[in-house]
Amino acid sequence: MKISAVKAHAEAIPLPRPFHGSNYVYTAKKAVFIEIDTDAGIQGYCYLGDDFGLGNEIAGKINQDIGPALLGADPLNVQDHWQWMRGFCRDILADRRVALHAQALVDICLWDIVGKERGQPLAAVFGEAPTARPVIAVAGYYAPGKTLADLADEALELIRLGCAGMKLKVGGAELGQDTARVQAIRRAAGPEFLLAVDANQAWSLGEAKEFLAQTARENLYWLEEPVHWDNDVADLATLRAGTDVPICAGQSEWSVAGAKRLIEAGAIDICNLHPGYSGGVTP
Ligand SMILES: [Mg+2]
Repeated sequence: MKISAVKAHAEAIPLPRPFHGSNYVYTAKKAVFIEIDTDAGIQGYCYLGDDFGLGNEIAGKINQDIGPALLGADPLNVQDHWQWMRGFCRDILADRRVALHAQALVDICLWDIVGKERGQPLAAVFGEAPTARPVIAVAGYYAPGKTLADLADEALELIRLGCAGMKLKVGGAELGQDTARVQAIRRAAGPEFLLAVDANQAWSLGEAKEFLAQTARENLYWLEEPVHWDNDVADLATLRAGTDVPICAGQSEWSVAGAKRLIEAGAIDICNLHPGYSGGVTP
């Protein structure tokens, strides 16, 4: 099989109202899409959210640098292509996020072709036995005028939709307010509801400890990226040593090696390394 075309493009759809996380705002939903065609008629597809607003640069890197060089190559040699694309990530003065996202899009798209060629879902290609997992939704975003009752209704709506739980944004309000938001959801959704929280690195170590103290009875499913990025490995390890709540981080790392450092430091229970931020699923 040979690659016959590689096409990427960025999309940005303005939102009707801003979308507030803990310490960031989206005014548009952005993504980069890629399609890889082959002479065997199999097409690979992938898209990644464009969290950093670099979509045009990422698509340009694919269309101008990576794609033309892959024409005629065997798409099934994914790991060789990944190693070759790594070269684009070595410029220490360039914005590394562009090359990492471009590498990730091509990498994941090539794996899509592998799965289609074998007639298997990628979980099977990667050796994972089929298992049922509870689904939780990222929800509970901040919005002007949104009340605790609104938040409780949102949790109940997720249950009606079949979700086993939610990941609530925290870190964007006073600690006491965030605690009240957690409690409102726990009261409305019940003890079985899987309630994770994500602070997106909004807190100092002291604030993260205080939040855990305030929510000690709320049976949090996990606490994600609680502390500022400046010293996150050490601060996460310190925080984790004093709590039973599973600590989750990794999405802000750029590599498997970065995730490994978190694990070796005893900083995390759950790793959510982002394949888009870190060059794909091959590593
Ligand atoms: Mg997160």
